[in-house]
Amino acid sequence: ETPVPSDIAISRAQKPKKITRVAQELGILDRELEQYGHFKAKVDPKSVIERLDEQVEGSINEKGHYVLVAGITPTPLGEGKSTTTMGLTQALGAHLGYNSIANVRQPSMGPTFGVKGGAAGGGYSQVIPMDEFNMHLTGDIHAISAAQNLLCAAVDTRMFHESVSKTISGFYKRLVPAKKGVRSFTPSMLKRLEKLGINKTNPDDLTPEEIEKFAHLNINPDSITIKRVVDCNDRFVREITIGQGKNEASKYPPRKSGMDITVASELMAILALSTSLQDLRQRVGRIVVGTQKDTGLAITAEDIGCAGAITALLKDAIKPNLMQTLEGTPVFVHAGPFANISIGASSVIADQLALKLTSPSNPINNGKKGFVVTEAGFDFTMGGERFFNIKCRTSGFKPDTVVLVATSRALKLHGGAPDVKPGTALPKEYLTENLEYLEHGCANLAKQISNIKQYNVPVVVAINKFETDTAAEINLIQKLALDAGADFAVASDHWAQGGAGALDLAKSVVESVKLSNQLEEQKYLYDVNDSVENKLHAITTKMYGASGIELSPLAKQQIETYTSQGYDKLPICIAKTQYSLSHDPALKGVPQGFVVPIREVRCSAGAGYLYALAAEIMTIPGLPTHAGFMNVEVNDEGEIEGLF
Ligand code: ADP
Repeated sequence: ETPVPSDIAISRAQKPKKITRVAQELGILDRELEQYGHFKAKVDPKSVIERLDEQVEGSINEKGHYVLVAGITPTPLGEGKSTTTMGLTQALGAHLGYNSIANVRQPSMGPTFGVKGGAAGGGYSQVIPMDEFNMHLTGDIHAISAAQNLLCAAVDTRMFHESVSKTISGFYKRLVPAKKGVRSFTPSMLKRLEKLGINKTNPDDLTPEEIEKFAHLNINPDSITIKRVVDCNDRFVREITIGQGKNEASKYPPRKSGMDITVASELMAILALSTSLQDLRQRVGRIVVGTQKDTGLAITAEDIGCAGAITALLKDAIKPNLMQTLEGTPVFVHAGPFANISIGASSVIADQLALKLTSPSNPINNGKKGFVVTEAGFDFTMGGERFFNIKCRTSGFKPDTVVLVATSRALKLHGGAPDVKPGTALPKEYLTENLEYLEHGCANLAKQISNIKQYNVPVVVAINKFETDTAAEINLIQKLALDAGADFAVASDHWAQGGAGALDLAKSVVESVKLSNQLEEQKYLYDVNDSVENKLHAITTKMYGASGIELSPLAKQQIETYTSQGYDKLPICIAKTQYSLSHDPALKGVPQGFVVPIREVRCSAGAGYLYALAAEIMTIPGLPTHAGFMNVEVNDEGEIEGLF
């Protein structure tokens, strides 16, 4: 057997099709496509969707089959969700003749040059060209950095001007947004006016004194929740002091702040969850930047007068990016929010677009429904849970089936085999047959299957096959998966063989979506109108298997604040480790009787969710001693080497 070459070598050996051809094959028109070089393009979702909706009467609700790829509790090596997403779409598209689109996140360059490497999949199941995919793409992450940094600059400058200028009412004209020429106050502005005792709803009725009072946002510098961002694992900007320049520091005190990685920003989450440009504009306006001194009222990006400019900076970023797999099937790459403090999924808009393109209303499908395969970051208790309870609530789409990726190595780890560390050789238990560890570890798989079943959706277990897996090991996983209630369980060899290796998986997916038609409506884990505490309780007990939660005094106080500000009726994302069903990475298998400590609760009002911290979470990773960037070179032909 020939060994499988490196990911970049495989990527480079395959000559991609011109992206115009990929678009043509999807039935996308020239005018709907904006090319970025030869192999990437942006697609205008609005034009495509409107055209296809108009073309066939009554087709507005038509869409393709929606497939979610999620994972069991992984090892630090990754169990192959992205690789499986690509292998499955290749099998459906290039081998079984379906219109099949993969929708994935855009990777951040932080991890690409850090420990983890890129996120294009691997082996013979990848997005290509993988270097263009992993670096820059079409600049969406850069646009988000620019927009987030503009907002931060606007906030600090506003505080500075309010403090040093005699009058700031000059701002007023620009600060009340105008729609079709008519200016009106936003809900948060009306709240502020009410607190000031100004009972007026028409911006033109305010007296000069009222304007002066209203224009003072009086932001408490200690309350500022937004941070400047950079798309790099730069641990040295985690804590910084800003405003130390002579001109500023002489008039206004410097303040301690810090930077986040761009993909951890609320704007990235907004890009992922927006349903249209108008919706994005509204969400951006609702971003809370801090609170007002004295009143404790939330101050938003709208109050700062920055929401329009941010939207302008993101107007191209909102269009999904078209690329292709190794086998020439289409891939949309769009948005890449963090999987710990955010939803860890690609965008709602890319799903709208791909589901429409795979629907019977697209003439190229000849009436046959295609497939959209998308991924949920981390394990199912994290990415999967948020996919259903946050992303699906926003989009209104329900997956027709969930593919749960399992590997023998992760299952052995949960069954008691020694720890697995990146960069070191795998212990022998993982390289030779060991049915005992495997059987024990399958309890984790069983719990994840029952977790998915709570959403009333079919489950296909995909055993991502490694070279060292034995037939007895594969058979055992299959049997235990079916015993645990999976509808299908198949081994898949797409890493070594591409789409041809994933035919059984693809056929099971085709069969499983038929089951989905018989299941009733989408089920959620909790009602968003329930209290924050009850929502946290529901997620931790029903998904993680915890006996409950324990709120820190800080978390209690934050919940009170958000409730009084009216932000409590939002879904919740819990940031925890992905290496255990629980909050403690050391607890393998299926831990029981644990209580999840909630240290803090934060609010992404614009993105539309609260997030709770059940662990210390880094919002900008660091670089290790042996970082990915050290392997990267450009050869004499100008080709990139060493990316993985
Ligand atoms: P995830 O999306 O779950 O994090 P990836 O698909 O990125 O996982 O895969 C993690 C790493 O494991 C990648 O480097 C990939 O090339 C490798 N990999 C995935 N599946 C296999 C396999 N079956 N055999 C060998 N290596 C694999």
